[in-house]
Amino acid sequence: MDQSTIDRLNDYLHDLFGQEDEVLKAIRARALDEGFPQIQIRPEEGLMLQFLLKANDARRVIELGTLAGYSGVWIGRILPEDGQLITLEIDEERAEVARESFRQAGLSDRVQVRVGDALSLLPGLSAEGPFDAIFIDAIKSEYPAYLAWAVDNIRVGGLIVAHNAFRRGKIVEPAAQHDDLVRGTLAFNRQISEDPRLLGSIIPLGDGLAVAVRLAGS
Ligand code: SAM
Repeated sequence: MDQSTIDRLNDYLHDLFGQEDEVLKAIRARALDEGFPQIQIRPEEGLMLQFLLKANDARRVIELGTLAGYSGVWIGRILPEDGQLITLEIDEERAEVARESFRQAGLSDRVQVRVGDALSLLPGLSAEGPFDAIFIDAIKSEYPAYLAWAVDNIRVGGLIVAHNAFRRGKIVEPAAQHDDLVRGTLAFNRQISEDPRLLGSIIPLGDGLAVAVRLAGS
């Protein structure tokens, strides 16, 4: 396929599966007003995330990297009424904006934002697990460490999803191979492909969604 066909297919996909309502649009607008980087998932990735969580019957979910709560709203909306999303964000200001997003989406009862470095908070979260799913979208250099925690704390059959598995193409650029963020993503993707406790792949949607199911075995 040539690039123009790929672009048209992406537009087609976006038109069919990339729609967002006023609440989601408002979150993106607020994030822009606050001067936050526009690095949230795309709506079509949000819908795919919902599909994966629903297919997995996920009830208790962890998210790493909240930003303004955009992906958190996609996740929170697909959880059952007694479901729970715990989302970790290092930046207090972003966490506060996200709490407001969850209030506006009517999800405050099932979404909890915790502030701090994900790798420092995760060991304490183990006592509250195991969890049904994790969505990884914080600092890319730490993706392998997040995955190590996930393998130990997601139930057998549970779901691991990670954003930016393609790093906007950098993972296949020879000049970018020494970048810490790219190396983190490469190590993460490789573990998904090689770890016998995981069954996974990369969904080539948006910037790539790495997905894996936790298999039995330690
Ligand atoms: N998941 C969000 C969405 O799609 O709406 C986007 C998350 S954004 C890509 C990454 C977020 O991770 C940023 O808000 C950043 O402040 C946060 N972050 C970066 N390093 C972190 C860390 N070590 N622990 C927790 N959060 C971190």
